[in-house]
Amino acid sequence: MQNPLSGKREEFLHFAKPCLDDGEIEAVQKALQSGWLTTGPLTSEFQTCFAEYVGHSHALGLSSCTAGLFLALKLYEIGPGDEVIVPTITFAATANVVEHLGAKPVFVDVDPETGLISPEKVEEAITPATKAVLVVHLYGQSADNEALRDIATRHSLKIIADCAHATETRVGDKHVSDWADAAAFSFYATKNLAVGEGGMLVTNSEEFYERAQILALHGMSRGAYARYHTKGFQLYDIVTPGYKFNMTDISAALGIEQLKRLHNRLRRREEIWNRYNEAFADLQLLLPPETSSEVVNARHLYTLRTKEGISRDKILDGLIDENIGCAIHFIALHLTSFYSGKYGYRRGDLPNAERFSDSLFSIPLTPYLTDEEVNDVIRAVRTVVE
Ligand SMILES: *Cc1c(COP(=O)(O)O)cnc(C)c1O
Repeated sequence: MQNPLSGKREEFLHFAKPCLDDGEIEAVQKALQSGWLTTGPLTSEFQTCFAEYVGHSHALGLSSCTAGLFLALKLYEIGPGDEVIVPTITFAATANVVEHLGAKPVFVDVDPETGLISPEKVEEAITPATKAVLVVHLYGQSADNEALRDIATRHSLKIIADCAHATETRVGDKHVSDWADAAAFSFYATKNLAVGEGGMLVTNSEEFYERAQILALHGMSRGAYARYHTKGFQLYDIVTPGYKFNMTDISAALGIEQLKRLHNRLRRREEIWNRYNEAFADLQLLLPPETSSEVVNARHLYTLRTKEGISRDKILDGLIDENIGCAIHFIALHLTSFYSGKYGYRRGDLPNAERFSDSLFSIPLTPYLTDEEVNDVIRAVRTVVE
């Protein structure tokens, strides 16, 4: 729907338009009718399918990725006096969970081309208080896993992967989470696998998994589903004051269906990605970095950067005016008022990230975009940038 004179869209195009097919809606309906609204058989099934998909022995369904990151840090006994290394270009949750545990997030600079955490900067930031590195596989790319694993091994650090953007990301025949001690995934409404609110924590450690299960549900020795499933009346015990982080079967029903559709939906993401790359090649913009042939990029976000001297904020104003949803992923965390105020960071401390943070913007990239909508986005970006 365009204005025939200006070519401008008449309806606002949401940044991450959700769309569910009939099979997905039916699965949720069945879940609603099943009698298990909360954590039950569908959560178990989703956990099994997801663990297999990423190649880990255990997956725990949660209410969010944030809960998964928090649990992982907590299970590694990170708390007051400890430091955790965090790339400054990430969503706030990655650093907030460190604060919630009373530990200190130490922000590091990113690679100037990819925005990914820089192994070199990680190594420079290590102190005797460092316990873990939060590795963010930004936009669906893969961080430099071998270098990070090597640093973690030499300094006895845990690697916790923030895979919120990286559900489909693989390197060679391995999922990107393979290099981490634990990894958390997000199924938030705008993510590649979207159930509204939800997340998953994966690990290969049986002991870690069992403790995570207990901690995620009030510290109860057995969850409701386990109690229901064993014979006779089951007493429960509280072994620790746990949290309330469990996944619902309604979310799991949708998750199971979305997992089946991920592969085809990634093909569509790639198609749109390539059209954007072609359409913007001659503009005063930096395109998203190329992906090496051994990496499957989840292509979660199509993030452009303005070249020196061009105002990103004016471009965003222009796109909104053209009725195109857009977003910033992300503002460098060390410059936000809480983190700069608490730890005294200043502009100039992490220059690659700051240049990124000042110049980046993301445009709609979901498999549900029609060809016409993709054309609208292209036309609007070209109009605004030119
Ligand atoms: C979305 C996101 C999260 C948080 O995910 P939730 O499921 O909403 O808790 C964490 N890290 C990154 C990089 C994200 O984009």
